[in-house]
Amino acid sequence: MPAMFAELSAALRQRDEAGLLRRRRELATPQGALVEVDGQPLVNFCSNDYLGLAAHPALIAAAQDGAARWGVGSGASHLVSGHFTVHEQFEQAFAALVGRPAALSFATGYLANLAVVTALVGRDDAVFADKLNHASLNDAVLLSRAEFKRFAHNDVAQLERLLAESTARRKLIVVDAVFSMDGDIAPLADMLALAERYDALLYVDDAHGFGVLGDGRGTLAELGLASPRLIQLATLGKAAGLGGAMVAAEPVLIDWLVNAARPYIYTTAAPPLLAQAGLASLRLITEGAGLRGTLRRHVAAFRGAMQACGAQLLDSATPIQPILVQDNQHALALSDALRERGYWVAAIRPPTVPTPRLRVCFSAAHSDEQVAGLCATLQELLRA
Ligand code: PMP
Repeated sequence: MPAMFAELSAALRQRDEAGLLRRRRELATPQGALVEVDGQPLVNFCSNDYLGLAAHPALIAAAQDGAARWGVGSGASHLVSGHFTVHEQFEQAFAALVGRPAALSFATGYLANLAVVTALVGRDDAVFADKLNHASLNDAVLLSRAEFKRFAHNDVAQLERLLAESTARRKLIVVDAVFSMDGDIAPLADMLALAERYDALLYVDDAHGFGVLGDGRGTLAELGLASPRLIQLATLGKAAGLGGAMVAAEPVLIDWLVNAARPYIYTTAAPPLLAQAGLASLRLITEGAGLRGTLRRHVAAFRGAMQACGAQLLDSATPIQPILVQDNQHALALSDALRERGYWVAAIRPPTVPTPRLRVCFSAAHSDEQVAGLCATLQELLRA
C-alpha cells in the first residue's frame, strides 16, 4: 500500500476525533424549505437558496426549454466553440440589471474569482484582502503570485495604512460584500474612497448579496455605489437558484478577462440551458420584492427570538444568521439535536471559520410556521 494512504487515514482519524471530519449528506428531493436528507424529512436552514428559486417552476421550464433548444452540453470552452447566443443574451441582461456596461459569465464563482484576480495582478502587484474573505478569493491571490496583504475584518484604517505604504505596480482591493459565515456587510463606501485615493481597483464578491440586497441588484446597489473602479461578482448558485457566476465591470476589463484569464479560457463553458434558465431567474429577481420582504420578516423574527433567549448573534441584517457557540463539539451537538427534531442547520467549524458556530440561513421559501418552529426549538436547546 502506498505510504501516503496510511498518512491520510491517520489525518482523517485525527480530524474525526477533533469533531472536524466533514461528511456529505444526501438529498433525495429538490432544494427547498422542506427536503428529505438521508431518508429523513427536514426543514432546511442551511442552503443559500435565499429566494427559493432553485426548484422554481419557471426556472425548470426555462431549463427544459433551454435543453430542447441548445442541447445539454456546451461542447467546448467559450473561446473555442462553446459560446452560445443565449450566453451572450444572459450577460447583457445581467449587465443591464446591475447597471454596468459589460458582464462575463463563468461556470462557477470559484472559477470567476480565480479568473479575475489572476488576470489583473501578478508578481509586481499587491492584493489587499479582508481576513475573513471567502476561501476562493484567498486561493486566487495565492495563484496570482501577487503580494498578499491582509487586513483585520472590516478594518478600513488598516487597509489605508497598507495601501499608503505599498509600492506595488497595481493595487487590487478584494473583499466579500456579505461575509458568507458572518452575514455582515463590508464598509464598501469607505473602501471605494480608498481605491480612488490610492488608484486601486475594488473587486467585490457579492455571492450572498446578489438577488437579496439592493432590490435584487446586490450590495453595491443597496449602498448606492457606482464607479469604473468597481468589479462586481455575482454567483448564481445562491439567490439566483442556478449555478455559475457573472462578473460585471468596464468593457476593457471584460475584454482583458476574455483574453487573459486562464480559468475562463481553459474550462468548458457552462451548459447553455443554464443561461436560458438564468434569463428567467433575472426576471424573477427583478420582480422579487415580495420574496425579499418575506426574507426580511423571517430574519427579524429569528433575531428577536434569539435575543430574547440570550443567544450570541452577530451583527447581520442578511439571511445569514450565525449563533456563536463555545466549541466544535457543542456546535455539532446542537446541529445533531436540531436534526433529531426535524431542523437542518449547519455546524460551521475551523478552518472554515475562526470560531465555531451554527449558521442559520433563511429563504423566502420558508413559512412563518417553519421559522417559528426553529426559534422555539433553538430556545429550548440553548436554555438546556
Ligand atoms: N464567494 C463566496 C463569498 C461564496 O460564498 C462562494 C460559494 N460558497 C463562492 C464565492 C464560490 O461560488 P461558487 O459556489 O459559484 O463556486
